[in-house]
Amino acid sequence: MEISQLVRFQKMFESQLQSASPYFREQIGTAIIGDSVDQAFELQEQMLGGTLENRKITSVQSARAALSRIRRGCFGFCEECGEEIDLRRLEIHPTTLFCIQCQEELEHKIGA
Ligand SMILES: [Zn+2]
Repeated sequence: MEISQLVRFQKMFESQLQSASPYFREQIGTAIIGDSVDQAFELQEQMLGGTLENRKITSVQSARAALSRIRRGCFGFCEECGEEIDLRRLEIHPTTLFCIQCQEELEHKIGA
């Protein structure tokens, strides 16, 4: 993937986090620096309990996970087979972890 595309995704995830909740907003600056902050986040999420709607937490978590993958240089690669995920697929599902083939196989397994 081109660096410019990677940066575009990174900005998108960051703005997603920023718009999520003031509660998370203050964490973002540190969240993109190191994995130790992930633990802090987990703690925060535990403290939150069920006060936030699940969807919001999920979108924050997946945006944060995507930023973490950008940081580690593995964003855009399938977690299953390691192949590069089709950019058109990433445009539609930016937080996806799998290429279309693996996704279909996984869904097939779950459905079976
Ligand atoms: Zn794959």
